Amino acid sequence: CGIVGYVGAKPAAPILVDGLARLEYRGYDSAGVAVLGPSEIRLHRDAVRVRELEAGLPKRFGGKTGIGHTRWATHGVPSQRNAHPQLSADGRVAVVHNGIIDNAAQLRAELQADGVELTSDTDTEVLAHLIARASEETTLEQAVLTALDRVEGTYGIAVLDQAHPDRIVVARNGSPIILGLGDREMHVASDTAALVRYTKQVVHLDDGELATLRADGYQTFTRDARTTKTAVTVDWDAS
Ligand code: GLU
Repeated sequence: CGIVGYVGAKPAAPILVDGLARLEYRGYDSAGVAVLGPSEIRLHRDAVRVRELEAGLPKRFGGKTGIGHTRWATHGVPSQRNAHPQLSADGRVAVVHNGIIDNAAQLRAELQADGVELTSDTDTEVLAHLIARASEETTLEQAVLTALDRVEGTYGIAVLDQAHPDRIVVARNGSPIILGLGDREMHVASDTAALVRYTKQVVHLDDGELATLRADGYQTFTRDARTTKTAVTVDWDAS
């Protein structure tokens, strides 16, 4: 339902929670955030309101790169284990997802046959496993492309990988993803409402497009080419 992400020099969790609060008007049943700690991904999620999620944040939840989600369940009941972010089995990759993976049942069966232990009932979880497997051997960008090749359905996604801690990779197919460009920091959200407090410079991804966000810049691309989109300036006051 709602996606936020941040990479920069500030603690990510408060920024992520603030963004999620601004997406609450869209409705949701669960909320969660993940940040990159020094050596592990830190995860905090549950079937609760954003305010409760924030109140329950662990003290040690530092990290300057992170992603967050408000979920409107389509596959699997609202619960802690079905809330996003969803993690890969090794805990190295975290994914938030808006939309529906149509061939999730088939992909879940394939992963289970390969010995992967599934820990949620969501369609989203398969993305975390597929990306983690692929990223052992290549860049995070290529791993996301490889995983998305297997997937039928709609998605806006944001991905964290402990092995590539300087970046967030996002992708869009039928569900909005908007980059918010800051001063040596980058934001991303599924809705401009989560960006307005931070920047007027935004980049709207098109379907089939992906992007890498790092503190010092961004790159948009498709499977076949770099797309190098320039930002548009939003006049929030007039909107
Ligand atoms: N299909 C996913 C799930 O049920 C994402 C739903 C959403 O867009 O929030 O977990």
